[in-house]
Amino acid sequence: MTLAQESTSLQFECETGNYHTFCPISCVAWLYQKIEDSFFLVIGTKTCGYFLQNAMGVMIFAEPRYAMAELEEGDISAQLKDYEELKRLCLQIKRDRNPSVIVWIGTCTTEIIKMDLEGLAPKLESEIGIPIVTARANGLDYAFTQGEDTVLAAMAHKCPKSVKEEEEKEERNAIHKLLNFGRKKEDISQEESEYKEHPPLVLFGSLPDPVVTNLTLELKKQGVKISGWLPSKRYTELPVIDEGYYVSGVNPFLSRTATTLMRRRKCKLIGAPFPIGPDGTRAWIEKICSVFNIEPQGLEEREAKIWESLEEYIKLIRGKSVFFMGDNLLEISLARFLIRCGMTCPEIGIPYMDKRYQKAELDFLEKTCNEMGVPVPKIVEKPDNYNQIQRIYELKPDLVITGMAHANPLEARGINTKWSVEFTFAQIHGFTNARDILELATRPLRRNNNLKELGWEKLVKEEAKI
Ligand code: SF4
Repeated sequence: MTLAQESTSLQFECETGNYHTFCPISCVAWLYQKIEDSFFLVIGTKTCGYFLQNAMGVMIFAEPRYAMAELEEGDISAQLKDYEELKRLCLQIKRDRNPSVIVWIGTCTTEIIKMDLEGLAPKLESEIGIPIVTARANGLDYAFTQGEDTVLAAMAHKCPKSVKEEEEKEERNAIHKLLNFGRKKEDISQEESEYKEHPPLVLFGSLPDPVVTNLTLELKKQGVKISGWLPSKRYTELPVIDEGYYVSGVNPFLSRTATTLMRRRKCKLIGAPFPIGPDGTRAWIEKICSVFNIEPQGLEEREAKIWESLEEYIKLIRGKSVFFMGDNLLEISLARFLIRCGMTCPEIGIPYMDKRYQKAELDFLEKTCNEMGVPVPKIVEKPDNYNQIQRIYELKPDLVITGMAHANPLEARGINTKWSVEFTFAQIHGFTNARDILELATRPLRRNNNLKELGWEKLVKEEAKI
């Protein structure tokens, strides 16, 4: 007989659960805001329309740049001409909004009736004179964050190659001139000399503009120049991507975009942990620097300072345990950061796991657990929620990070929860935003402490009878 030992390396399991996550067409909500000159046309049924309306309800007042093309019975039985209908809609969009790009979002129905969106798009874009990007961000995907992945993978095909034609060169020069308008020549060349010599680097992942600036400046401090971001703020400023360029993702759910950039655009992927939490951000910068043979400066002190400033939050969670039910594919990075904060994590549920794209993050998670002297979590892909609930009852974690569907039922059973979707929409990347992750993660614990102080202990401790 042998003694059961705590494993120090990661274990993977796969169950056969359903994906209890939002539909990926919800990516329209953040992508249309990010790409300012875009228009999103979702081609689907009433169900998709209702879902989008609910998910983005408030935005009807803001004149959003998205619309629904509702399929009818005639479309489904192939009696109507898809091409003519889409042309009518796109011409209307051109007339009313004149965007630089129209993004067609395919839904479950277009998948099921095998609507050839990719075949229709090239003909139509040359006819109406606006580029069309086709992305299949439907509910058959694993997680709602993967909607962004499909759109970016489709957009990667549209990134220009090095400018060859004189005309284009002129246009880019004009943009450059405009950006540098009012700046002295010496200032511009002084700025250029702050960078070290290295091959072009393009980052991919949709982040709010302040976070983009933040990460760009962090790399600039090390002398690393970012040639462009995919997506850029405007479609007309998509980064040039040539064979041999280096690329790196900032989000764990972008494996399709990474594959497209490697296979179709022949880029070299820098597989680094993701810049989430001070530990992840430092590891991300270090990895990029190591690929370019740059010795990073001052990162250790920078990281230490951030940890110091987080102590107030960390003392609330140190020694406590967290359980991830699995929702948005950010689970591994968040668990790694929370373990570094002193938490333990018995299980990380995740809807889908691309072990190659997330390799550096998985290695980093294992290393973090070993350094912190805590058991490594079990990673459960496609978890079965019924089994998970049994495990939650057994393990009694202090906090469960879960999709919206399970939060209230768990709370009613006396279990502290946090919606995972909040981590998708909060600014969590970079050194300084680590505070926001902890602000979210500690909120249920702080709420309970406050209730306790008010003498309402029963509300938080006693399991509700249901
Ligand atoms: S794309 Fe599919 S899952 Fe998403 S709202 Fe439409 S029908 Fe539902």
